Amino acid sequence: MSDFKQETKCIHSGYTPQKGEPCALPICQSTTFKYDTTDEMGQLFDLKADGYFYTRLQNPTNDAVAAKIADLEGGVAAILTSSGQAANFYAVFNICEAGDHVVAASTIYGGTFNLLAVTFKKLGIDCTFVDTDASAEEIASAFQPNTKALFAETIANPALVVLDIEKFAKVAHSHGVPLIVDNTFATPVNCRPFEWGADIVTHSTTKYMDGHAVQVGGAIVDSGNFDWEAYGHKYHGLTEPDESYHGVVYTKRFGKKAYITKATTQLMRDLGSIPSPMNCFLLNLGLETLPLRVERHCCNAQKVAEYLSAHEKVASVNFAGLPGDKYHDLAQKYMPKGTCGVISFELNGGREAAVRFMDSLKLATIATHVAASITMVLHPASHTHRQMNDEQLREAGVSPGMIRLSVGIENVDDIIADLAQALENA
Ligand code: PLP
Repeated sequence: MSDFKQETKCIHSGYTPQKGEPCALPICQSTTFKYDTTDEMGQLFDLKADGYFYTRLQNPTNDAVAAKIADLEGGVAAILTSSGQAANFYAVFNICEAGDHVVAASTIYGGTFNLLAVTFKKLGIDCTFVDTDASAEEIASAFQPNTKALFAETIANPALVVLDIEKFAKVAHSHGVPLIVDNTFATPVNCRPFEWGADIVTHSTTKYMDGHAVQVGGAIVDSGNFDWEAYGHKYHGLTEPDESYHGVVYTKRFGKKAYITKATTQLMRDLGSIPSPMNCFLLNLGLETLPLRVERHCCNAQKVAEYLSAHEKVASVNFAGLPGDKYHDLAQKYMPKGTCGVISFELNGGREAAVRFMDSLKLATIATHVAASITMVLHPASHTHRQMNDEQLREAGVSPGMIRLSVGIENVDDIIADLAQALENA
């Protein structure tokens, strides 16, 4: 499907029904698959033959949706996980072990920050955070001989910092490590990080890809471009025999698909964060309309951002679609069609005014979520970033009075009318 445009891939990639087969992607809700001989199934366990045997490893519905996402990102292979958190965990853990080190942008989503700063530390993997806007030299100074990956988000949640992907890719590659980019907010409709040098892309498919707030899921896509074998022992989990899998050497056996195959056969086998086929079916429905929805989200958000930035009670608005925004130029370069539907802003009255405003909303819903069809609002310092101290909040680009608004695809006049009446009470 690689010659088709994104809109066509969203509908057709990953599943091509043959004569008499269902047009809609079938839900293969089976844990297991039948074989006739002992040897047939043994070949699958040895990775010597292709085929399904147990859904924790692979399932036809899940694989079809993974193939669609790989195609949308322009990658060689993808794996789906049961959440975005699991995707980011696997993406890093697939190439890191105790004693290793990661460099990450400090503005990333609070859950990923916690994963890298706290949980990975318990596993013996250290992380150094760098300012997303830092110079290439400053980012480079965070690298150590044991650094195995550089991690960032295309559009950071919730600070809405736009990543200079080329800058990050250059620093990563000059240190012989891959750049992993969480592309959840931009989606491959607005940005394809592989075209700018990223090596691995992750997603919380819970967000725009699903778009209806009905399933929690994640995805990892490999560009196939990073040369794991070029650095000797550094990525030995990929380039040397895996004793837990009959001595397979992933790069030798699977070439450009080595990274995703290892994530499937080793991490999914041992950690097991597989999405259900039913959830993958729901995700696929969301993907079919992704370009339509993303276009409307961006268009509505642009109008809402313009309205808010002209309002006397609003102190500041972060939205890269606004010409005066700090990230406008980067957004024009990397996402000329639009960024996303999420806006963050601050009221003159700070934290107290934020709470009064949110409690006065009638159409917009207070919810811990973004990117669904409904307009949603959240106060990061009280909700998603609650575990952070003031210094960590500052590093994450979150002020105590910041409000995160995920603009939905309702009629924009109704959204603005709701904001207007709530601002009267703020
Ligand atoms: N990455 C980003 C950018 C997110 O915004 C989130 C959740 O909000 C995640 C990852 C984690 O995804 P999930 O909630 O699907 O585990």
